[in-house]
Formats: sequence, structure tokens, C-alpha cells
Amino acid sequence: MNSKSSLPFLPFSRPTIDEATIAAVGEVLRFGWITSGPKVQAFEAMLSEYFGGRPVRTFNSGTCTMEIALRIAGIGPGDEVITTPISWVATANVIIEVGATPVFADIDPVTRNIDLDKLEAAITSRTRAIIPVYLAGLPVDMDRLYAIAHRHKLRVVEDAAQAIGSTWKGRRIGSFGDFVSFSFQANKNITTSEGGCLVMTDADEARLAEKYRLQGVTRSGFDGIDVDVLGGKFNMTDIAATIGLGQFGKLDEITAHRRAMARRYFELFGADFESRTGAQLPVADFEQSNWHMFQLVLPQRITRAAFMEKMMERNIGVGYHYPPIHLFSLYRARGFHETMFPVAERVGRQIVSLPMFNALLPGDVERTVDAVESILR
Ligand SMILES: *Cc1c(COP(=O)(O)O)cnc(C)c1O
Repeated sequence: MNSKSSLPFLPFSRPTIDEATIAAVGEVLRFGWITSGPKVQAFEAMLSEYFGGRPVRTFNSGTCTMEIALRIAGIGPGDEVITTPISWVATANVIIEVGATPVFADIDPVTRNIDLDKLEAAITSRTRAIIPVYLAGLPVDMDRLYAIAHRHKLRVVEDAAQAIGSTWKGRRIGSFGDFVSFSFQANKNITTSEGGCLVMTDADEARLAEKYRLQGVTRSGFDGIDVDVLGGKFNMTDIAATIGLGQFGKLDEITAHRRAMARRYFELFGADFESRTGAQLPVADFEQSNWHMFQLVLPQRITRAAFMEKMMERNIGVGYHYPPIHLFSLYRARGFHETMFPVAERVGRQIVSLPMFNALLPGDVERTVDAVESILR
């Protein structure tokens, strides 16, 4: 490797699968039922219990989970859906996918989540739903979010892809609210390799979710089958569910560890870090956030590319989550352009994700802070 560092590569994220889970996956493969079966049912039952008994169905990605939530809500052509420009592009793509119109509202510079005042100002007579994102696992003000939704009679599809284990005023994200969508993609706090789940409100929604995830099929008796809605192929496999079951037992431990590592970052950067360097730390929330990521917004005097290159010279991986969605070509072609969402544009240009994962060690945090300090000095 062309590297100044003799230390091993430290990625910004990496999954950890324990030996018991690997053995359990082996058993599923030997057993022979490798698509959706008893493990998916067990995983869904466990998730439902975790979310306070609400109905939960699993899917093969967080993306299709949100798309199915929009379909269950009946969102389609002519409808506007408001979301944040600072998210993975999936959040806005699903709005286009169901034929609706994506509308963005700028972010709050401190939380980096959608600014709820700007969200409310963006509501029109065509707005049908809102998709808030809990970036890095930090929830928005959930009381205000649902007050706005109720006032304007809007459905909410929470993109809680990054927020498994996060809470709001002591309640688990997902245990209350309207639709709540999680992702179990490889980099998330809990993974199934790929996958997602949707928490819903009633049994009718859950039945529709089952149809949308498997060709619209309903079965009855020994050989009864009907198709009454257009569904796709979005089911989770028992292999994936087995990984999820293995991971989920450790969720509290994982969340506690990430919070401890986030605290360590704050201690090492010190109270004067922002005034010394001009960089911006995340919100110091060790109660509610699950610390899916630890993100800095760099000062304007250094480009993100230059910062990433210097971190790479020290053998440390850095992520960027996310460039603003509205500036991608697909969205520019729909009329979005620079200067529309200035906070998102500044943050989206300068935000970096430092190493944060379930097996991150205090020494990794020290090494990362040393590197950041030497680069920004
Ligand atoms: C990961 C993620 C998604 C998409 O989830 P997939 O499982 O990769 O489809 C959507 N939104 C956010 C904010 C995410 O982090």
C-alpha cells in the first residue's frame, strides 16, 4: 500500500457477525429452507415485540420498505411528498418510484435533520406525506413532527433506516408513530446483510404489506390463490433473518458501545475543538441517538476531498453522508438547482463520517482524533 501509516486500515464502518450467528446460518443452509420461512416469522415476531406489539413485516431492503409504505398509504401521481435533501438518495427515489413528486425542505445546521419550520412552510394542498430522516440516528423533534402531520392530515413514513435503538423521550423509535421504516443493510447498527422492516399501525396495513412484497398474492386453504393488487418481489430470506436474529440479541450492547465511543470522540476533541478548528461536531446526545455515524462538518478552508486524502494517507477511511440529493442529475432534470437549499448544500459539501462501528475500539478513536487534529491544525 502507498501509505505513510504502518497501522492497519481503519474503515469508517464494518459489520461484526459473531460465530454463533455464522453457525446458525450454516444450519439454515443445511436444513434446506433458504427463502422466506420460519426464521422470517421468528424475526418478525421478535421485532414486533421490540416495537411494543405493533405489526412488523420484513423486506429485502430498506428502500423497498419505504416504497411499500408509500403504496400502502395510497401515495401516487399528483401527490407531493416532502423530505430532506441530506439523506441517501433512496429516500427521494422511492417518492418518484411510486409516481409522486418529491419536495425538499432545507435542513437544520445543528441537527442536520430536516428543519421542521421549513417542512411546514413547504406544505401545499397537494402534500400527502412527509418522510423525515434521522441522520446518524438522531431523531427529529417527534412531538413537533406529529403535531404538523396531524394539523395538515399528512401520512408520515419515518425513514428510520439509521435509527434502530434510538429513542425519543424514553420511547423507542418505531414503538409509536405512523409508518416507521428501518434498514438492515451491511453498514447499519444491526444488519441482515441486506434487508429492512416496516412497523405499521394495524392488521390491514400488514396484510397489504405482505401482498406488495410478494406479487400481490393471497393464499387460502390448501390450493387457494388470488392476486388483487400489483406486488413485486421484496421478501426477506431465512438466511438474512437468521443473521438479524443473531444481531438483535446484542442491540442494547451495541447502542451502549456506540454511545461510549461517541463520548470518547467528544472528550478527545475537547470543548474548544470547534473554536480552534472551525469544524462542527454533531449534537452531543448520548441518551436518544444510537450513534449510527459520527460526523464532522469541515471548515470551508479545506475541501472534503483533500481531507479524505490526508486521512487515507494515515490509513483511516472516511465516509461522506450525504451529498445533497437535489443536485444529482436526475433531480436537476426535475428543476432542482444550487442555492435552493443553502444549508444542505454547505453541509453536504463538507460533511464527513469518521470511523464508527460495533467493534470500534477506544484506540481507534484516539488514532482518528490524532489524525483529524494534525490535518486541521
Ligand atoms: C441505508 C439507508 C436507506 C436505504 O436502505 P437500504 O437497505 O440500503 O435499501 C435509506 N435511507 C437511509 C437514511 C439510509 O441510511
